[in-house]
Amino acid sequence: MIHTRSHTLFTQARQIIPGGVNSPVRAFKSVGADPLFIKKALGSRIVDEDDNSYIDYVGSWGPMILGHCYPAVVNAVKTCMENGSSFGAPTELEITLAQMVIDAVPSIEMVRMVSSGTEATMSAIRLARGYTGRDKILKFSGCYHGHADALLVKAGSGAATFGVPDSPGVPADFAKHTLTAEYNSLESVSRLIAENKDQIACIIIEPVAGNMGTVPPRPGFLEGLRELCTNEGIILIFDEVMCGFRVAYGGAQTLYGVTPDMTTLGKIIGGGLPVGAFGGKREIMEKLSPSGGVYQAGTLSGNPLAMTAGIETLKMLQQPGFYQQLEEKSRLLAEGIAQAAKEAGYPLYSTRVGSMFCAFFTPHEVFDWTTAAACDTKTFARYFLAMLEEGIYLAPSQFETAFMSAAHTQQEIETTIAAARKCFKLIA
Ligand code: PMP
Repeated sequence: MIHTRSHTLFTQARQIIPGGVNSPVRAFKSVGADPLFIKKALGSRIVDEDDNSYIDYVGSWGPMILGHCYPAVVNAVKTCMENGSSFGAPTELEITLAQMVIDAVPSIEMVRMVSSGTEATMSAIRLARGYTGRDKILKFSGCYHGHADALLVKAGSGAATFGVPDSPGVPADFAKHTLTAEYNSLESVSRLIAENKDQIACIIIEPVAGNMGTVPPRPGFLEGLRELCTNEGIILIFDEVMCGFRVAYGGAQTLYGVTPDMTTLGKIIGGGLPVGAFGGKREIMEKLSPSGGVYQAGTLSGNPLAMTAGIETLKMLQQPGFYQQLEEKSRLLAEGIAQAAKEAGYPLYSTRVGSMFCAFFTPHEVFDWTTAAACDTKTFARYFLAMLEEGIYLAPSQFETAFMSAAHTQQEIETTIAAARKCFKLIA
């Protein structure tokens, strides 16, 4: 494939945008390549500036569950735009999306809209601290919750990919309030709680970890966290920015039957436009300004275009059988890739929850950050580049999740498996 125009644009971008990109993982740096500049997308496919077409399993890192340019979403947003794109005043659209979120997500009795996942987690933590009067928070190694100071401690996603899980620029005085436990280890959580008795405001977790690859919670892990939090007066926050409306309509909390005190959302609820949200128990949420004293605000929060895209997306997700179909396609693909690797004599550890999945380049079980970090990232990079050449667009890092959309066809899944078969033989 020829990438001349992407290459030229990247050279230009690097002069005026740090690293040439507006979000680090996009740079393809960890796989030793230049990023593709994307011109357009439709359904399951994206097209780069050199007119190469790819089957897309990134889906804008999660939001595009219906595929790109879903007609109902596009039409509704166009109509909305004609009525004005931002007022900085309340609209009925905000009530509609809030009600849909409340109806879907068990833990959410009240919700506030923001413009990104980062804002959602940052604000949820401030509220948890304000509500409990405690300063410390507990997160898990390899989980990513956006780039707020308190959360860039042993972080996943790009922070893990680029080896900067603890970012320069975060004062030690801030980071010291963030405790880090091991994913899937209740023992590590209990120990930290005992060492910091009555000081922990909240535990924040991705109930399905998606930022160190895809790592499912082991049976009993989320239930155990729930129990510990209830006993210790700690607010349990499920960060469902990625898995909310993805692994099930009501998110991971519906799938596993564990209800946190607060939940953060993003990605899918914005249908591809910038949205985040945080919600939870009424008693906690009412502490938020202007009904309470914990301050949080946003010029574009609840933006009409974003609310519209979210509403139309959620409507489609309510169709009977939607998640079953998505899951079946994801299962076929994940199993097909694992089988292709096996045939080539290449050991993989394959994980999947609903339409989130990952092929870890290791023969060993991956259940936390240490086991994820042990993967062969060099071989992953070769696989990634070979797949790209075959017209398959995967996330350019071992520590990311692949996403299926409703637009992917059976034929495309077979094409992808055939490509994987070829690529594994190539790298084995
Ligand atoms: N939480 C989780 C679980 C995420 O996956 C992400 C982004 N990948 C965020 C928070 C941050 O969201 P945003 O990039 O919209 O700020």
